[in-house]
Amino acid sequence: MTKSAHNNNRFDYIIAGAGCAGLSLVVRLLQQASTCNKRILLVDRTNASMLNKTWCFWEEVPDIFEPIVHRQYKQLWYHGKGYSQLSDIHPYRYKLIRGEDFHKYCMDLIARFHNVEVLTGEVTGMNGEGEEAQVNIDGIEYRADYIFNSILFKQPELKPNQPYLLQHFRGWFIQTTQPVFDPGAATLMDFRVPQEQGASFVYVMPLSPDRALVEYTLFSEKLLKPEEYEKTISAYIGEYLHSEYSITGKEDGVIPMTSYRFPETDGRIIHIGTAGGQTKPSSGYTFQFIQRQSQILASQLDKGERPVPSGFQRTRFHFYDTVLLRVLARKDVPGEAIFTRLFSRNRLSRVLQFLANQSNPAGEIRLISALPKWPFLKAALNQLFR
Ligand SMILES: Cc1cc2nc3c(=O)[nH]c(=O)nc-3n(C[C@H](O)[C@H](O)[C@H](O)COP(=O)(O)OP(=O)(O)OC[C@H]3O[C@@H](n4cnc5c(N)ncnc54)[C@H](O)[C@@H]3O)c2cc1C
Repeated sequence: MTKSAHNNNRFDYIIAGAGCAGLSLVVRLLQQASTCNKRILLVDRTNASMLNKTWCFWEEVPDIFEPIVHRQYKQLWYHGKGYSQLSDIHPYRYKLIRGEDFHKYCMDLIARFHNVEVLTGEVTGMNGEGEEAQVNIDGIEYRADYIFNSILFKQPELKPNQPYLLQHFRGWFIQTTQPVFDPGAATLMDFRVPQEQGASFVYVMPLSPDRALVEYTLFSEKLLKPEEYEKTISAYIGEYLHSEYSITGKEDGVIPMTSYRFPETDGRIIHIGTAGGQTKPSSGYTFQFIQRQSQILASQLDKGERPVPSGFQRTRFHFYDTVLLRVLARKDVPGEAIFTRLFSRNRLSRVLQFLANQSNPAGEIRLISALPKWPFLKAALNQLFR
């Protein structure tokens, strides 16, 4: 980040954290006539937080980041024990955006607006009470009508009996000597890997006939040693991809899967992104929920309304997520068996609609009835009468 903050420390909006949520919101604000002239401060401790990330998500209608979609897929593979299916996902497209493209696209746009100040600094605290919100950055106070905060200052404090898992993964970008990938079809989940550590699958995003991201993901309590992830990826490539290859890059990460209800506002502070509860507890997907949340916030500001982040934490989907998370955490039924029943008994596009929190109750009953009844009923009752 190159620009420095103006002497006048009063802004219309302060965006704390220039990650996926912070940048998505700024870009939307700059695309609206009513908000593009607002004085905005964007602050982050680094400009490198997203450079080694890729974001995958699905959507029906192309949104503002369509110009930087790196790859998109009309078909997805699912592989479970004894079940493999390639499905057309119409009306959705499954898309991949590279963090570096996202960062450049947002920062290039921001650079064209002199009313946006970009600051590198450590946010140490904020206060949303009163007539204006205040944030402390490297010992200096900045004020605004609203702070949009994507910084998670402390880890969620879970209640006893609240399910919690980690989604942890390591991916290799590989270049193969043979053209073994179909660039039109990605692998959403391939459970044909050892399941001893918890629900574990491989995810394959072809980038061309001879390049792909191959990622090994687990839903479990504990992280693995780096060599354990690598051993599984290497064995998977050997068994299913059948080509010599070289590793050209790596990605790894940990996403907490929790039913904890993140606070949505603190007075004039509006929490966004993961810090605002936009990570789906049962899947870790966040990108599409961040887009929906930032769209809602930008449109409220456009109309001159007070921003209310109306996330999915208060909807029936949060209940479904928590129940699924409970079943996964208890391990009464292997994760592979749950997902294979869900995917083998329903159209994939319907499952995606459900996982995107876009289904209707009738469709949800059909989907849920495919799942093993007792473990889910027990988990649902546990959740209701905890
Ligand atoms: C490797 C990886 C891959 C992922 N892939 C996907 C995917 O494919 N699909 C999907 O839907 N989700 C994915 N996720 C989950 C989610 O989309 C991302 O974590 C996303 O970046 C969340 O956006 P955010 O803005 O809430 O948080 P972040 O992007 O993490 O932004 C928070 C920002 O706050 C800054 N910050 C933190 N503390 C301070 C401080 N004290 N002072 C100043 N700045 C601070 C950080 O530097 C960071 O830039 C992935 C997560 C990871 C880690």
